[in-house]
Amino acid sequence: MHPLHYHAFVFDGHCDTLAWTLPGPFYRDLRQWGQAGQLDLPRLHAGGVNCQVFACFPGEGRIAASPASAALQRLEGLYTLMAQAPDHLTLVRTGADLDRLRPDGPIGAILGLEGAEALEGAISLLHTFHRLGLRLLGLAWNPRNAACDGIEVGGNYGLTSFGREVVAAANQLGIVIDVSHLNAAGVEDVLALSRRPVIASHSNARVLFDHPRNLTDAQIRAIAGQGGVVGATFVAEFMRADKYEATFDDFMAHLEHIIDIAGPDHVGLGSDYDGATICRGLESGERYPLVTEALLSLGYSETTIRGILGENLRRVFRQVLPAG
Ligand SMILES: [Zn+2]
Repeated sequence: MHPLHYHAFVFDGHCDTLAWTLPGPFYRDLRQWGQAGQLDLPRLHAGGVNCQVFACFPGEGRIAASPASAALQRLEGLYTLMAQAPDHLTLVRTGADLDRLRPDGPIGAILGLEGAEALEGAISLLHTFHRLGLRLLGLAWNPRNAACDGIEVGGNYGLTSFGREVVAAANQLGIVIDVSHLNAAGVEDVLALSRRPVIASHSNARVLFDHPRNLTDAQIRAIAGQGGVVGATFVAEFMRADKYEATFDDFMAHLEHIIDIAGPDHVGLGSDYDGATICRGLESGERYPLVTEALLSLGYSETTIRGILGENLRRVFRQVLPAG
């Protein structure tokens, strides 16, 4: 691993790895380097990752009958893993927790939600999830929920009144808002309403590949303009019509475009490991150092590379999370 990668603070804004913690045929011990799956604790260490967002997805394939229960089961999976491996994983609740993370210490775990479905229309549940450690709120997955519309919904509806209430409460509690998966009108509403910087944790550039999950240049500029970060993602489907053809070079093209449009201080990484087919070359978590090597060979400065690897996301979370 290049020393710059080892010493840099590496922060991955999105993975779906908690799906493996659910009891059943897909259960996997994430303390082991798994044959199946794309991310686990040994791979996070091998990839030099210092902080990882673990998304709680409120569904099974599609949204579950009780989305709150589905999200809570994943949340419990993270707590169980932290109890099993306290030297390898520690929950990040505050800015001080972020600052305590060290290259040779436990990896910081940030608890995220991927869809306001899990709130089941009750603002009180946002407070409950916050007490349990929620620090990143993805308002939408792909369908409609009580707060907003995801990218698969037609029409041009923005946030509902409940969605507006959720944004205000997230600002007040110190939860970062994530606009990946949100439809365009929703992104616009969030940017107009939020008093804190927001992120798109795992999205690429629409101008390079026309997929509804990718962001337009105007959206990238608007997120950056409010101090936020766009997390370039390894998801193959957001790069090519035939996802099995997507390569590491395709990913780098999206990353470089987002750097050009957002500016180097507003770009991060959001792998989406264990949530999607990943482009060739970045198939699993031990591959993160390849991004650093590619950025170095393209001539980016050490400061810019450190920002992209994690300092930019760390800045946003420091600004939004309670100081501690
Ligand atoms: Zn996603």
